[in-house]
Amino acid sequence: MLLTISTVHQPATDLGYLLHKHPGRAQSLELPFGTAHVFYPEASSERCTAALLLDVDPTALKRRSASPDFALASYVNDRPYAASSFTSVAIARVFTSALNGQCRERAELVEEPLPLRVGVSALPCRGGEDLLRGLFEPLGYAVEARSFLLDEHFPEWGDSPYYEVELACVRPLKEVLAHLYVLIPVLDDEKHYYVGEEEIDKLMRRGGEWLTGHPLRDLVVERYLKHQRGLKQAALSRLLVEEAGEAENHAGEEALEAELSLNQQRLTAVFEALKTSGARRVLDLGCGEGRLLALLVAEAQFVEVAGMDVSPQVLSRARRRLERLPRGEQVVVFQGSLAYRDARLSGYDAAALVEVVEHLDPPQLRACERVVFEFARPATVVITTPNVDYNAHWDALPAGAFRHPDHRFEWPRAEFGTWAEQVGKRYGYAVCIAPVGPEDPALGAPTQMAIFSAGGTRG
Ligand code: SAH
Repeated sequence: MLLTISTVHQPATDLGYLLHKHPGRAQSLELPFGTAHVFYPEASSERCTAALLLDVDPTALKRRSASPDFALASYVNDRPYAASSFTSVAIARVFTSALNGQCRERAELVEEPLPLRVGVSALPCRGGEDLLRGLFEPLGYAVEARSFLLDEHFPEWGDSPYYEVELACVRPLKEVLAHLYVLIPVLDDEKHYYVGEEEIDKLMRRGGEWLTGHPLRDLVVERYLKHQRGLKQAALSRLLVEEAGEAENHAGEEALEAELSLNQQRLTAVFEALKTSGARRVLDLGCGEGRLLALLVAEAQFVEVAGMDVSPQVLSRARRRLERLPRGEQVVVFQGSLAYRDARLSGYDAAALVEVVEHLDPPQLRACERVVFEFARPATVVITTPNVDYNAHWDALPAGAFRHPDHRFEWPRAEFGTWAEQVGKRYGYAVCIAPVGPEDPALGAPTQMAIFSAGGTRG
């Protein structure tokens, strides 16, 4: 399997920085199913081409497969030659930093649209050239495809499903890699591994930003998730909620709380709690549109600021907000879910979850507790959530209604206290609870905040 990426951006050898692979050296990386080689057939300042050659070992594949049968097809098949989900795995492993948009040496090029040409020597297109065009053209690619007869001796058999493909566009490299990562297995309509829930997260992480508005969105989701209905529904609803939702829904919640400018008071309270904790590296989980991130990045104490959210839409807004701020470009903003353990969350001194936990279903909340307190384990965790006792204060809110249609629950003060206490005991954090916003003598304050500090006694 051969994939090439060329550019005429000047100096073209910057491609080597973006891909984190030196144009002067051939490199090889062992993968579970073969070897990936990266080399540059051409590397001048006018034009540079990086090649990813994937040498799939069919015997290794057979050893890994659980099926005991001796079928010739498991030894003799198209996998060594065709672009497939192996190619996606290789892209993710060999070009990890480029795919994640990380590049210290040429940081300014990460988001810059570059003239790029991608060549794939044998791309299986189940659905033909129409589907190939239907997938790439809406994303701004010029598509050239060459088809081949299945067998020259038997022209009546017609064309093979394999195409030699050239894709040209002017887009940031990380986007092009994400498109290939998702769309190659979609065109192949096959995956070499078991497809489960985590696959939705991969799709959201790599496809969330461009897939929502794609005319073939449903087909992409269906094929990517290997035609599993339950997974497809879950993925589509996540994409759709994000598309339709956040701005509108938040408008209601914000109007309700406007008189208090509660949002502002909440952010200030969380900011102060983080600052007082002495944290230098801080993480905003469920960062939304990045309001807290904007405050944090302006404070010199916080030398490293990062934000994560499950919704690509709000992340785009967060990035736009940060772009306009001094030091804003230093904030790392990434897509991820609090329901899954994630190595990117390790190594921070403090984490904030501002008005996030009430968006999680009970099983997701349990998972989130472990993700934050057991695995990421920052020394300080600051969590805010609505105090439902206070809702009686708002005439505009019908009795029993939540403040936001996506809230799965809203806790009375006693319940939040018990939850925080139990989490603290289970994971060894001391807990301090504080009201945020104007306090009513009977109902308390509209927002409740818990500050967890590591070093508490485990129960
Ligand atoms: N902290 C922000 C946003 C609060 S709204 C603020 O105070 O303005 C709740 C946020 O949690 C939304 O942006 C939503 O996309 C995010 N969210 C919901 N479920 C999530 C999950 N499982 N993982 C990460 N973020 C999630």
